[in-house]
Amino acid sequence: TKAYIARMEATSALNAYITTTPDKALQMAEQADARLAKGEGGALEGIPLAIKDLFCTEGVPTTAASHILDGFIPPYESTVTTNLWNAGAVLLGKTNLDEFAMGSSNVTSYYGPVENPWRSTDEPDKKRVPGGSSGGSAAVVAARSALAATGTDTGGSIRQPASFSGIVGIKPTYGRCSRWGIVAFASSLDQAGPMARTVEDASILLQTMAGHDPKDSTSAGEPMADLSAALDQGVRGMRIGVPAEYKVEGLPEEISKVWQQGIDWLKAEGAEIVDISLPHTKYALATYYIIAPAEASSNLARYDGVRYGLRVDGDSLAEMYANTRAEGFGDEVQRRVLIGTYVLSAGYYDAYYLKAQKVRALLRRDFDQAFETVDAILTPTAPSDAFAIGENEDDPVKMYLQDVFTVPASLAGLPGISVPAGLSARGLPMGLQVLGRMFDEGSVVRVGRALE
Ligand code: GLN
Repeated sequence: TKAYIARMEATSALNAYITTTPDKALQMAEQADARLAKGEGGALEGIPLAIKDLFCTEGVPTTAASHILDGFIPPYESTVTTNLWNAGAVLLGKTNLDEFAMGSSNVTSYYGPVENPWRSTDEPDKKRVPGGSSGGSAAVVAARSALAATGTDTGGSIRQPASFSGIVGIKPTYGRCSRWGIVAFASSLDQAGPMARTVEDASILLQTMAGHDPKDSTSAGEPMADLSAALDQGVRGMRIGVPAEYKVEGLPEEISKVWQQGIDWLKAEGAEIVDISLPHTKYALATYYIIAPAEASSNLARYDGVRYGLRVDGDSLAEMYANTRAEGFGDEVQRRVLIGTYVLSAGYYDAYYLKAQKVRALLRRDFDQAFETVDAILTPTAPSDAFAIGENEDDPVKMYLQDVFTVPASLAGLPGISVPAGLSARGLPMGLQVLGRMFDEGSVVRVGRALE
């Protein structure tokens, strides 16, 4: 813990932490030592972790990287972090993210962008994004200023930053980790998951984070396989699908190459590669960018200047609401609230929201059919390597395109992992994504491990 605290200070220029808790960390580490000395101790005893600042932590400020939560100190602890502390883990601090987890670059944070510790060989002076929204968590793991971290993934926010930062990230099956105490973005999609250096570390963390929770009505009771045991089973005999629709137009040559390399590795390990089709893939991005903002507009209605954080007064109650929300929410959050309220409005509900729900069902069916013949699916995680801070910002749709490979599985609720698979010509990490059947995290980590 002391070594990580020193490393946090040495790498503070990355802006990856919003809040650091070194005193609390030392205290927790001492308690862990005491338990270990007595021969007690949990699975994560003394392991120093960073927590995305979207998880409520009792007595420790929780911001969601938004101005509107100024001064908010939760009086309770999220279920996922409670599980981690019960297993002996140590809190180093809370990591930066896109505001309310809306974004793919960590640039929408009220607390400023996070710098990816990786620089390209061709433009070594340019600071790069770590991806998003869990950009701070990805950066601290890559910079070695935490041993591992938690993230959340609504449409790719664990997997894409993992890919950009050369680390491993797992988005579990929807319902696997309790959402209780995690600031809500899009409730039918939000999932917590681990971000770590290796598939093994991520698997150990997930085993502790997951579990049924009566406080979350969508929490699943399905038992999870022993992931550490699954890891070493290898992929011999497994059928791995490669979906034609992910060979999108304009996909950089080196992403295709790393994908092909992944296919070759799995073949060499004894897996059977199967060409599959997920025909509705091309509608996934549009569907996601209707459903996620719709749910966000509803979830964010609670920030009214009365219950939490920031209040900007006005001459009437309505004016106070308006002033608070105008000043408290950044541009991207306001854009999502506008899109969301529009697609949910009486005149457009059928045309947009209802239609999106129907397409979501079709996307799910595509995966169900594919998983009748394959055990896992292999794709690239993101359509690019880490771009420079400031790039892709002029046009929100360009930023949304970052999520093209991650949102289909989110809409279907499936588990997925991103594993570092190589470096681009300019020396930046690129990840491969493995998707599995509902509740089959075991196969996901098995294939992920084979790619490491
Ligand atoms: N980039 C996606 C978005 O902006 C996904 C974010 C997430 O998974 N939290 O909505």
